[in-house]
Formats: sequence, C-alpha cells, structure tokens
Amino acid sequence: MTKINKITLDGFKSFGKKTELLFGNNFNCVLGPNGSGKSNILDALAFVLGKTSSKSMRAEKTANLIYNGGKSKKGAKQGEVSIFFDNAAKIFPTPDKVIKVSRFIKKDGASKYKINDENRTRQQVVDLLAYGKIHPDAYNIIMQGDIVKMVEMSPMERRGVIDEISGISVYEEKKNKAVKELEKVDTKLGEAEIVLKERKTYLKELRSDRDQALKYKDLNDKVRTNKASYLNLQLLRQKKDRDKIQADINTIKEDTAKGQERINK
Ligand code: ATP
Ligand code: MG
Repeated sequence: MTKINKITLDGFKSFGKKTELLFGNNFNCVLGPNGSGKSNILDALAFVLGKTSSKSMRAEKTANLIYNGGKSKKGAKQGEVSIFFDNAAKIFPTPDKVIKVSRFIKKDGASKYKINDENRTRQQVVDLLAYGKIHPDAYNIIMQGDIVKMVEMSPMERRGVIDEISGISVYEEKKNKAVKELEKVDTKLGEAEIVLKERKTYLKELRSDRDQALKYKDLNDKVRTNKASYLNLQLLRQKKDRDKIQADINTIKEDTAKGQERINK
C-alpha cells in the first residue's frame, strides 16, 4: 500500500501559515471542532493529487482555494500543498526514498506541479500517482457528502462508480476510444475506396487510350513501309522501262548510222 509520510499546506484554504501534518502507519484520524479545517485537509489531499473540479473541493473557482485571510488578516499570494510518499517499498519507479509531489495555485487560477521540487506537468504527476493506484478523480478519497451521494444515486450511476473502482471504466473508456478510432478508420477506408474506384475508372480510360494509340502507331508504321515498298516497286519498273527505251534508242541510233553509211556510199 502507498504510505503517506506527511502533508504540508501553505496558503491553502484556512491554512494561512505553513502547516505540517505528519502521518503515522496504518490508521490516521484528524480531530477538531466544527469549522476548524478538517475537511480542508481532505480538500488539500484531493488538490495535490490533481483533482480538477474546484467544486468537489468546495470552492466556487480554483483561486478560492487560496487562503483569503478571513475577516481580518491578509490573504496569501498563492496556495501550496505538498504530499510526501514513502517509497521504501519502491511502489513508484524512481530511486528516491521519499517522493514529494507539490501543487501550487496562483490568483489567476493557474496550477503548477512539482515532483521532488522540479517542475512537472499534471499528466506527469497523474502518471506517477497511477503507480501507487492513486487516481485524482476516482474514489481514493471519500469526500464529505460522497456517501449520501452514493445512497441517492440511481442504479446506473452506482454501477458507474463500481466500474470505476474495479477498474473496468478504464477499459470502457479505452474501448470507446478504440471504437471511435475504428469509426474514423472506417470513414477513411470508405473515402479511400471511393478514390480507388475513381482511379480505376481513370486507369481504364487511360488503358483504352493507350491501346488506341498503339494501334494507330502500328498501322502508321505499316502504311509507311507499304508506301516505301510501293515506291520502290514503281522505281524498279520505271528503271526497266527506261533501260528498254534506251536499248530501243541505241538500236535506232545504230540503224540511223547504218542508213547514213549507206547514203554516203
Ligand atoms: P465540520 O466539522 O463542520 O465539517 P471542518 O473541520 O471540516 O468542519 P472545514 O470545512 O474544513 O471545517 O473548514 C471550514 C473553514 O475553512 C471555514 O471557517 C472557512 O471560512 C474556512 N475557509 C474555507 N476556505 C477558505 C479560504 N480560502 N481562506 C480562508 N479560510 C477558508
Ligand atoms: Mg467537515
């Protein structure tokens, strides 16, 4: 079990001066007259463990958690609560023997967190506390009025609390997240399918264009070779004709020469 050594409060609710509360082993009890600040200690505990709702710490807004000085004294500039955990049992995965978690609240309502006096985010604090099975908005702390609330809850609401305590709600949340993620993926998949379909149609058009172009090129090549063969054939024929005519000219020339010779004689 996670053991608390002490809690210090400074400027938190009715604790204007720095106050140290030492915790012993096992059972601890805070006694005091009405209005002496017993519940404020529980509020401080919830506060330092990262509770976000100021109403659950009985304050209208977070800035109201700062010591206001009551009727006659000056209020504090900021509120601070620190909790010291005994880490001898190594519940928290750090080499420190004692782990100090602090939360500060400023007048503007802004919070600041520290672990062992070094600045940390709320998430880092929440993650660390989770090792000690402490969850800021779960039921580690039973606040004043919680029992009455529990009795007055509807069965559905009570089931929610039991889920939360037994740790089911974490999985419920995870499941809901996963389902939402799945829905998103489904939508994306649907979109991708539409795009794919469009691309396929386009591809089909492109393919028929390409086939047409190839056919044209093939035919064009054939036309050109056929034209060339035809021209070649014509050339050969005309050469033959020319040779024949030349031969005829030659015979006529010979005949003319012979005729001339005869005339001369
Ligand atoms: P009860 O026995 O009635 O439950 P309690 O011991 O739990 O009383 P708390 O409710 O813790 O008492 O303390 C109430 C007191 O704290 C009131 O006097 C209130 O004025 C004082 N208080 C609350 N908030 C602040 C604040 N911001 N600054 C100064 N005092 C505050
Ligand atoms: Mg009280």
